[in-house]
Amino acid sequence: MSEARQDLVIVGSGIMGLFTAYYASRAGSTVTILERSRIGDPQTASFCLTRSIRSDYLDPLYARLAYAARQLWLDLQAESGEQLVVNCGCLNLARERVTPDLGRTYAVQSFQILKSLGLKAEAFDRDGLQRRFPQFDADLGRMDVEAGYLLVPAITRTLRSALGKQKVTIVEGVMVEAIAERDGRVRIATSQGEWDAGSTVLTAGLGTNDLLARVDGCQLEFPLRPDRPSQTKYLIPPPEQRSLFTAPALPVFAYLDIGVYGHPMVPGVTPGVKIGYYNPPDVRKAETFIRDIRGFIDECMPSLRDAEAVDVKDVDQCSYDLVADDHFILGALPGFSRILVGVGWRGTGYKFGPLVGRTLMQLALDGRTDYELDGFSPARFVSAHAS
Ligand SMILES: Cc1cc2nc3c(=O)[nH]c(=O)nc-3n(C[C@H](O)[C@H](O)[C@H](O)COP(=O)(O)OP(=O)(O)OC[C@H]3O[C@@H](n4cnc5c(N)ncnc54)[C@H](O)[C@@H]3O)c2cc1C
Repeated sequence: MSEARQDLVIVGSGIMGLFTAYYASRAGSTVTILERSRIGDPQTASFCLTRSIRSDYLDPLYARLAYAARQLWLDLQAESGEQLVVNCGCLNLARERVTPDLGRTYAVQSFQILKSLGLKAEAFDRDGLQRRFPQFDADLGRMDVEAGYLLVPAITRTLRSALGKQKVTIVEGVMVEAIAERDGRVRIATSQGEWDAGSTVLTAGLGTNDLLARVDGCQLEFPLRPDRPSQTKYLIPPPEQRSLFTAPALPVFAYLDIGVYGHPMVPGVTPGVKIGYYNPPDVRKAETFIRDIRGFIDECMPSLRDAEAVDVKDVDQCSYDLVADDHFILGALPGFSRILVGVGWRGTGYKFGPLVGRTLMQLALDGRTDYELDGFSPARFVSAHAS
């Protein structure tokens, strides 16, 4: 194959790569995506049925960015005419017997952040929670109102179709062999020929360090490591109770102090309520007697005690890409002005997809971005690596 000349070549076709291509091609650029496997490969982090969308972060920066990303999701939804976002809210729970210092729980703290940012949030005491969400048994609930879940297969379909219309070339099953930035352009040698790009964006998830090793003159390796929830199960309630466990009767829910999160069942899409058990590193791990999903149900969600529990095997067989300092990595590769990278989403990245894609598009095509993301710069790892 002869050399192809493009404004932008993106390596990796997860949600971050697809959104970068979407925005760049809308801006009139010629774009190619190179994917070593295929879009929607079950081994990749972006393969799933539902992903949560919420802004209830403890760090106000992430809360603001998540809310900004939400507006972009709503724009895509309006444009596609298909439902992509289900607005059922995200309910954070706390129970004194489980986390005695209720004032320090994720629910209470994230609620304060949402309020301080002027975002919609609702507070429930025990009685209020019982009335509104009788599925739970907890002392308090704090709801991020403009939140819920994303319908991943519809999103992948929508983006693929938009990229087709916007004439983006997608090359699947391709191996990138070498990347070199020279004379203001980037040459990418692959198993299927060479590309000559104005810029390149690497959105390769846990494959990123392997790609950095192929960039001529790049000594950097990011401190990334894979991690997974220790348990993920579908809880399948009896048919006569199912309406209690679908949105909007059931919101997305979480008790992050003890590592639990859940998504309502989606009729015709998921067989039951999906509950995961994982302690993300950015959350204080409470000393607790709850050690698994069954423990959470017994204590906080008795409505599911009699539900059939099966391991989730159809999705979520992939890993999070954790970063040593627990922050996203987003920006130009140090020493290179035309090679950009986006990785390290720590199990929480999907909802940020459009914001990340827009940022990478702006950095690649204009060398600047609307968002203040200096703290995410890949340059922060240079000295650590050199020492
Ligand atoms: C179990 C689980 C649950 C999650 N839940 C949520 C949630 O509820 N809400 C939320 O917002 N986020 C969630 N996330 C996080 C979110 O799914 C990820 O942050 C996001 O999908 C990452 O997208 P990505 O495009 O960076 O990576 P990926 O989807 O992994 O895509 C990277 C792509 O690059 C390709 N690639 C790799 N190396 C190369 C190479 N050398 N050449 C070419 N291509 C290459 C891969 O094949 C892949 O297609 C969850 C993640 C997991 C694992």
